[in-house]
Amino acid sequence: MKKILVTWWAWFVWSHLCRRLLNEWNEVICLDNLFTWTKENIEDMLQNSNFNFILHDVNLPFWWQFDQIYNLACPASPIHYQRNPIETFKTSILWAMNMLELALKTKARILQASTSEVYWDPVVHPQNEGYWWNVNPIWIRSCYDEWKRGSETLFMDYHREHWVDIRIVRIFNTYWSLMHPADWRVVSNFIMQALKNEDITIYWDWTQTRSFQYIDDLVDVMIRMMNNEIWFIWPVNTWTQFEFTIKELAEIVLKLIPESKSKLVYKPLPWDDPKQRKADNKLAFEKLWRQPLIPLEKWLIPTIEYFRKFI
Ligand code: UDP
Repeated sequence: MKKILVTWWAWFVWSHLCRRLLNEWNEVICLDNLFTWTKENIEDMLQNSNFNFILHDVNLPFWWQFDQIYNLACPASPIHYQRNPIETFKTSILWAMNMLELALKTKARILQASTSEVYWDPVVHPQNEGYWWNVNPIWIRSCYDEWKRGSETLFMDYHREHWVDIRIVRIFNTYWSLMHPADWRVVSNFIMQALKNEDITIYWDWTQTRSFQYIDDLVDVMIRMMNNEIWFIWPVNTWTQFEFTIKELAEIVLKLIPESKSKLVYKPLPWDDPKQRKADNKLAFEKLWRQPLIPLEKWLIPTIEYFRKFI
């Protein structure tokens, strides 16, 4: 049994991750300041004697002995991180340093949840882990993009200077049941709009693309990365080779909700919105022997069912 710390701001990739870690007989401690949601997503786990939740201001250091640390702490939806950009940037950098110090002092292995945002609006397609340019440090997404890039720098430097045992995953667009119904991500927006018979808001001319992965594929890669004893220190994309235009996504959602009376409408592209994203997943396949398994249409169905309760 390993003792594992998972940090997050009540976003809920971690609730899926924690459930899986508990099922594999680990002791899991979650730390969160509940910035983006409530404890609702973890009610079921609170009964488990191997699970502990700690409400903690993530600006402050935290000390305890762990075998592994999953550092997921940062709001990921543009409306959340742009609401309070200075706090996003400051807290995320400070917290990454606090967690790296903890890993250094206790010899824990630490995984950083990074993001495809480190590629911002890429000029190379698909994006492999060696690609690193065309990122703007001064626009409204920069508080998120730059802290994630900065945290990768910190992780690599803690490894080079102190031999901290690090892992870095760059997460592409992920959807899941338990998403926040009003987090304004494209998947939750389109499903909620279709269920409420409201217009489906396609920003720009619809040609922008994203690669969508289901949560279980992501969680599986994170755990494989963390548990891989012989690893090389380098970020790894996760993931999915399927690239969709935003209009294709809207059409799939409407196909899966045939009773919807929603129509597609076109709105201006939000400032600073990247136009094309697709992971090059060769490295993940080579090192982890794992391809994404879950087709978008299949797992949108339970995701849609989950959203029905908010109508
Ligand atoms: N998007 C859209 N309509 C919406 C919400 C998002 O067309 O109601 C587009 C958005 O402009 C972006 C893509 O969908 O190009 C993905 O947006 P999201 O915020 O989900 O993720 P991110 O931009 O962080 O990849």
